[in-house]
Amino acid sequence: MIPYGKQDITQADIDAVMEALTSDLITQGARVPEFEATIAKYCDAEYAVAVNSATSALHIACLALGVTEKDIVWTSPNSFVASANCALYCGAEVDFVDIDSTTGNMCIQTLSNKLEQAAKHNRLPKVIIPVHFAGQSCDMAAISGLAKQYNIAIIEDASHAIGGRYQNTKIGSCKYSDITVFSFHPVKIVTTAEGGMALTNKPELHQKLMLLRSHGVTRDESIMAASNPAPWVYEQVTLGFNYRMTELQAALGLSQISRIDEYVTRRNHIAARYMTAFNQADIDCLTVSEDCYSAYHLFVIKVPQHCHELIFKQLRQAGIGVNLHYIPIHTQPYFTRLGFTTGMFPNAETHAAQAISLPLYPKLTTEQQDIVIKEVINAVQTCN
Ligand SMILES: *Cc1c(COP(=O)(O)O)cnc(C)c1O
Repeated sequence: MIPYGKQDITQADIDAVMEALTSDLITQGARVPEFEATIAKYCDAEYAVAVNSATSALHIACLALGVTEKDIVWTSPNSFVASANCALYCGAEVDFVDIDSTTGNMCIQTLSNKLEQAAKHNRLPKVIIPVHFAGQSCDMAAISGLAKQYNIAIIEDASHAIGGRYQNTKIGSCKYSDITVFSFHPVKIVTTAEGGMALTNKPELHQKLMLLRSHGVTRDESIMAASNPAPWVYEQVTLGFNYRMTELQAALGLSQISRIDEYVTRRNHIAARYMTAFNQADIDCLTVSEDCYSAYHLFVIKVPQHCHELIFKQLRQAGIGVNLHYIPIHTQPYFTRLGFTTGMFPNAETHAAQAISLPLYPKLTTEQQDIVIKEVINAVQTCN
């Protein structure tokens, strides 16, 4: 089976992890801060806080921004459930903003209209979480403009998008947001097995994220109650978690991140080849805006709805590990129990009824890609 995504582990990665594993500190050592500094520098952000998953990063990002049970958080229905669950962890209410069908990203006009309505009913969200679907940035200038107008915070869920750019900013620079979150799950652009990161330019958010990641405990005298504390004193100043990343993961991440541009270039090259082949065959692909450089976590085609399942099954039978990104979050049983129903976010639903994610990862060979292209065109023509 040719999978839809796959990590690339080199001998250098193995050596880096082995070195970390046999060093004195296998957690809470120097590699995590080094990994954080490397990512912050790469993304042009001030601060980065490494955690054990993007899910954890989203959770503490919401908490750092003060999300409570009195609040509402909006995100995209075309995402992994973690984009919405972070709000529920804080006891907040979650709602969704439908997508633009051509990109799969949050639709700006829909957001604008929904904000206008919410303002009228005193139901504005505290935080909006745009998701950079497939690796392409949302229109962050527009989202940030609207958020400023209504005094709403922004967390970018950039789990798909490290290595990408929006206009002339790096994804992760937080130019248009309070916090940006990355995932280092193996199917993503770079991996630490499990892992994530929250980036910010705001020192007060950085401090909160650091506390929340590690039990709410600090040895920083500037935020401790005790003056002149004894050398053994640490203080718990808030309720935090153990969301720490290990030294082994940071070692892997540091080794991986040295190849990020190579990875994203290769992903763009593969995507361009798909695009050329499918344009000729009249198969729909998502569009990437002129002002975006996608990190291309995913390559998504759209097929006629009545052929969707047939084509999907045929490709799987042909040994191609296609996938669906995403089953709309609001249609998941847990969310329908919260009151969401099918029909609420029709563009995300139609997207899910047509979308197929094709294999896309740095080590996908040209020969493998040609097989995928041939099988896709064959399956689409068989159905039509
Ligand atoms: C993968 C992913 C997450 C969760 O990442 P983990 O690191 O597995 O917790 C969240 N949001 C999106 C959009 C993702 O793709």
